[in-house]
Amino acid sequence: MRLGVFGGTFDPIHVGHLVAAVNARHTLHLDRVLFVVANEPWQKVGDRPVSPAADRLALVDAALGDVDGLEASRLEIDRGGPSYTIDTIDELRRAEPAAELFLIVGADVVAGLATWERLDDVRREVTMVVVNRPGSTPVLPGSTGPLAGWQAIAIEIPALEISSTDLRERAATGRPLDYLIPEGAVRMIKERGMYARDR
Ligand code: ATP
Ligand code: MG
Repeated sequence: MRLGVFGGTFDPIHVGHLVAAVNARHTLHLDRVLFVVANEPWQKVGDRPVSPAADRLALVDAALGDVDGLEASRLEIDRGGPSYTIDTIDELRRAEPAAELFLIVGADVVAGLATWERLDDVRREVTMVVVNRPGSTPVLPGSTGPLAGWQAIAIEIPALEISSTDLRERAATGRPLDYLIPEGAVRMIKERGMYARDR
């Protein structure tokens, strides 16, 4: 099995995430792509309030609907504590020993690789799949740069200048989320009163 692992805070999920995942799946012939919802995104906690993991997972579930080959994963939520990619990879490796693992990330994530836990183990276990992202320098696999020594592939996807940060701000100021986030997830954000500005 060729398994895509797409980790994120998904606070909230948006079409930038979905376009990245379906295109990685198509280009690399991945059987499945897991949207792994971070329990505690250790690089983000402290900077801002992160929505409860259960809410973020529910949004991912609602957004994915029944799109072929894309699945929400609660692995990191069930594990609890801070979410380190290597722990997730270890778990997937144990569950699916024969799977080939593809770790999908946006170009902005590559810049922070050096701070990851047990980076050498991650490098040994996965093929890194980098998708372009507006505002981030494109990262090309090669003998120099942050992906030197990695099994890595760059995938060109339609550039969508969408971020969860901007969407939270839109929600807080009452601007529309429609078409930037799948409809079911937009409805859920409203029902749950997520991202409303604290007063
Ligand atoms: P935030 O602004 O809160 O950081 P985000 O939009 O970056 O949110 P994350 O949950 O941090 O979303 O990202 C999960 C993964 O999706 C990361 O690998 C990130 O690079 C990638 N990603 C997010 N938005 C896009 C986009 N518009 N195009 C390509 N990749 C994206
Ligand atoms: Mg981000």
